[in-house]
Amino acid sequence: MKINHKILVCGASISGTAIAFWLEKYGYEVVVVEKSDTFRDGGQNVDIKGIGQDVIKLMGLEQQIDSRNTGEEGLRYLNDKGNIISSYPKGAVGGLTSPYEILRGDLARIIYDRTKLRCDYRFGWFVVAISELTDIVKVTFNNGSIEDFDIVVCADGIGSTTRDLVMPEYTHFNYLGAYMSFFKIPKTPEDDLWAKAYQVRGGAMVFLRPGHKNDTTVLVTFLKEEFIPDWQDVSKQKNRLKEVLTAKAGLAERVVQNLDNVQDLYFGPMSQVKASQWSKGRIVLLGDAAHAPTPFTGLGTTLSLVGAYILAGELSQNTSIKDALEQYELIYKPHVELSQKQISPRVIRLIHPQSKFGIMVTRMLTKIFASALIQKLLRPRTEKQEVTGLNDFVLPNYQTIN
Ligand SMILES: Cc1cc2nc3c(=O)[nH]c(=O)nc-3n(C[C@H](O)[C@H](O)[C@H](O)COP(=O)(O)OP(=O)(O)OC[C@H]3O[C@@H](n4cnc5c(N)ncnc54)[C@H](O)[C@@H]3O)c2cc1C
Repeated sequence: MKINHKILVCGASISGTAIAFWLEKYGYEVVVVEKSDTFRDGGQNVDIKGIGQDVIKLMGLEQQIDSRNTGEEGLRYLNDKGNIISSYPKGAVGGLTSPYEILRGDLARIIYDRTKLRCDYRFGWFVVAISELTDIVKVTFNNGSIEDFDIVVCADGIGSTTRDLVMPEYTHFNYLGAYMSFFKIPKTPEDDLWAKAYQVRGGAMVFLRPGHKNDTTVLVTFLKEEFIPDWQDVSKQKNRLKEVLTAKAGLAERVVQNLDNVQDLYFGPMSQVKASQWSKGRIVLLGDAAHAPTPFTGLGTTLSLVGAYILAGELSQNTSIKDALEQYELIYKPHVELSQKQISPRVIRLIHPQSKFGIMVTRMLTKIFASALIQKLLRPRTEKQEVTGLNDFVLPNYQTIN
């Protein structure tokens, strides 16, 4: 495709910065608009697994990511008294911890820093109207300015408003019957470098993971059959979390004690995005905007990094935009769909046992799975963690010019 093309990317998180990285390497003029007034540093531990690690190597970011590694050593399941039930060290089957353990904001910041001098980042900007003419996309921004682009990439996350302006008919949300909340709490002396998981009676889970120097990151998930639209208010969200966790022992108790002081609460339904088509004309979806798998899979970041690599590569290889966008979807969508299938409302219910008996059984299972014998039997084929749907996927080889 002609390298004098001007490409608009909406969203400056993982997928937005990653596609900017590659497009710039292929010689395109790249404008990235981000709705937030400043770069968004927040977020918790994200995992870069399997083939996502190959993309990081191709980007030459291993060392920088390593220097921001949270140092997580593995995952431990704890009982009500805080005693260890089972341990999954880094690399164990069924564990969480990947060789690249990094906070979302740190990863996005690394890619942003790599690209900010060569791409035109505009903070506080977002698209309010968009129309595709014969060979150009005319975009109106929130500040009233109008500009023409050859291609628009919607990398603006699960609730992508740019996608909704263009192709709402393709977007489907798959509510998984649970809510999730992320935030951080102060680190205490008992917080070592192990992630900790605790099952709470009534169908909830608490995960604590190493964050920045003085922080421990928290993920709380809990079953909720129906989607509740009026949980928008932060105090209502905190109250709901307290209801789910109060009077429970173990890590739940500590989380409740800290909740009132939490400043960075993210709270929302656990939903997958399934876009039936990833592009319309010259406008294309990337990352969570196309296929959010839910943070529970730990795959959102990996899928976004791989998708950005393929989309940019196909744009550079094909002479027509239409062919490039079709190829991107053809090559990648079947794998993404497979990887999304690993999570369903049924799986979510199994992970969140509600009764004392159910918790006892799952705790026993975590112990059995962590045993040396089972780990040996299940040993992964490679050192890299498996990524359902992408284990046999071979990254296409594209030639960059910068
Ligand atoms: C602040 C933040 C914290 C997160 N924390 C976690 C976490 O703890 N654990 C986890 O698993 N995942 C987290 N995620 C989601 C995770 O980043 C994604 O699942 C995955 O990395 C794919 O990223 P993405 O770039 O496609 O979407 P996202 O990371 O959701 O990024 C979308 C970006 O687009 C911006 N944006 C939104 N609307 C517009 C618009 N109309 N125009 C321009 N820009 C727009 C957003 O501000 C954001 O920067 C977080 C995302 C964000 C933004």
